[in-house]
Amino acid sequence: MNAFQKLGLDADLLKAIEDMGFETPSEVQEKSIPILLEQETDLVSLAQTGTGKTAAFGFPLIQKIDANSKKTQALILSPTRELCLQITNEIKNYSKYKKSLNVVAVYGGASITDQARSIERGAQIIVATPGRMQDMIRRKLANISSIGYCVLDEADEMLNMGFYEDIKDILSHTPKEKKTWLFSATMPKEVAKIAKKFMTNPVEITVGSKNMGTSNVSHEYYLVNHRNRYDALKRLADANPEIFSVIFCRTKRDTQKVAEKLIEDGYNAAALHGDLSQNQRDLVMKSFRSRQIQMLVATDVAARGIDVDDITHVINYQLPDEIETYTHRSGRTGRAGKNGVSMVIISKSEVRKIRTVEKIIQQKFEEKSIPDGKEICKTQLFHLANDIKKTEINHDIDPYLPSINEALEDFTKEELIKKFFSVEFTRFFNYYEKAPDLSAESAGGRPEVSEGNIRYFINIGSKDGFDWMSLKDFLKEQLNLGRDDVFKVDVKASFSFFNTDEQHTDLILKTFSEFNHNGRFINVEVTKDQKSDRGGRKRERGGGGGGRRNSKGFDDNKGGKFSGKRRSDRNDKKGPRKGSRNKNIENSVKRRRSKA
Ligand code: ADP
Ligand code: MG
Repeated sequence: MNAFQKLGLDADLLKAIEDMGFETPSEVQEKSIPILLEQETDLVSLAQTGTGKTAAFGFPLIQKIDANSKKTQALILSPTRELCLQITNEIKNYSKYKKSLNVVAVYGGASITDQARSIERGAQIIVATPGRMQDMIRRKLANISSIGYCVLDEADEMLNMGFYEDIKDILSHTPKEKKTWLFSATMPKEVAKIAKKFMTNPVEITVGSKNMGTSNVSHEYYLVNHRNRYDALKRLADANPEIFSVIFCRTKRDTQKVAEKLIEDGYNAAALHGDLSQNQRDLVMKSFRSRQIQMLVATDVAARGIDVDDITHVINYQLPDEIETYTHRSGRTGRAGKNGVSMVIISKSEVRKIRTVEKIIQQKFEEKSIPDGKEICKTQLFHLANDIKKTEINHDIDPYLPSINEALEDFTKEELIKKFFSVEFTRFFNYYEKAPDLSAESAGGRPEVSEGNIRYFINIGSKDGFDWMSLKDFLKEQLNLGRDDVFKVDVKASFSFFNTDEQHTDLILKTFSEFNHNGRFINVEVTKDQKSDRGGRKRERGGGGGGRRNSKGFDDNKGGKFSGKRRSDRNDKKGPRKGSRNKNIENSVKRRRSKA
């Protein structure tokens, strides 16, 4: 008797499970399946991403469905179209020996009439995203009034995406007696609220850190100054030539920006976020699956549906707002028994968050420093040498060899190797030779900002009607910051300076990235020379045109003409790579902006 048989699954399922090559049930499957098979009960099951939750509800659901009846008997709600399709596929695989069982996917961005027609033919199981499901119900294209089971999959993410009201509305069209099975990676308050409101005495299952998804993942963090984040990311990529990664940013904007910069710098990158149309997202995912894209820059929500094995690195460009989300991110790598690395780029003020994450994942992080230029060059050279070793000789070049040999006849093998590598590497070497050390703590890096304060340049000043007090009020209001959060406000004629704690830098740069005030485009930059700001806050009272405390890097008298480029990272601006190697993808990224 095999392990799945012991759980009480019937022959059709066991055969399909064997075909899929599953040998032993995962913990969440072992705990959920027997309960769901034996009891008619509500259930809350918590387990990390990648632990096999789909089968944990899919197997028992299939076994409980009456395939001889064409009525819709179960509804599975999932947050994204990608997940919806993924679950539908899995269910189809599991039920391949139950010929009369039909499962239909219902999601936005595709023809609603086609979906309605499939349902009409008899769909015992509907897998749906909440928005489209509501549409279907409203237009009476689906009838869920007699379902026996409703599964809320990735419940935390559905709530993150603001589907609470939709779920509530959908559930109001289902019978009271139906059983609700909720699966989630985390249990934030909102999920607990759903469990309380829509479920009756649910059995609760929690699977600890001991699962097949994450134990293969090692966690590393890299301490850098805020303004070196992007350069640090490039170094991490350059130090891992075979990288196949998902890079997480907090916002759609950052996601788009980082992807565009990477493309500009010659990396095979693309963005994945909710502002892309469905077609664009499909295209990006297709390119990612086929490895045309090595670095997929994604928001948490958009990445939720990614089910790609073999991802070598997850890079947290920023830590997520909800620290629990970290487990979703790191769960994208280390799948299917492979090893993976989850890297976090952080600034000093965030180190304590790492400790919180460690508690959640019950694993320790390793602190590592951003590889320096030498290390990267070495790695790249060995990588190239290996590539050469593996390369099959192309005999089409044979006819040209005599002339080539002639041209190179004066060189020894050693010289030829050196020359050959120099062709590939001079650019790389030149680039990294001058590259600064990016680790925040190292003495060779840029001076760390005093007391964690950051000084900013803003392109408005007294000509725009501001004095230090009104500018401070204006900033506080726009940024929703407290009384003392903005300080050392120094107003010049057509531009000004101010300070905040480093923790607000993201917010400030984000807020003022495309900001328009009374028809004036407001631009905020981190100033180049932060050292001039060591004094305490007290001197601020004397501000408003008093002392000449100009930051180097900006010329007081030039009236705020500013190039718009962040000056601090110019050294590292252009990548060592040659031109962009992924024109198609680049185009797909640039043709964006239509709402999904
Ligand atoms: P979750 O929903 O918990 O994130 P999934 O259901 O998407 O996880 O499963 C993750 C991967 O693990 C899928 O590729 C799935 O086919 C595979 N898987 C699930 N259960 C098993 C098992 N018992 N043995 C081997 N692989 C499994
Ligand atoms: Mg899942």
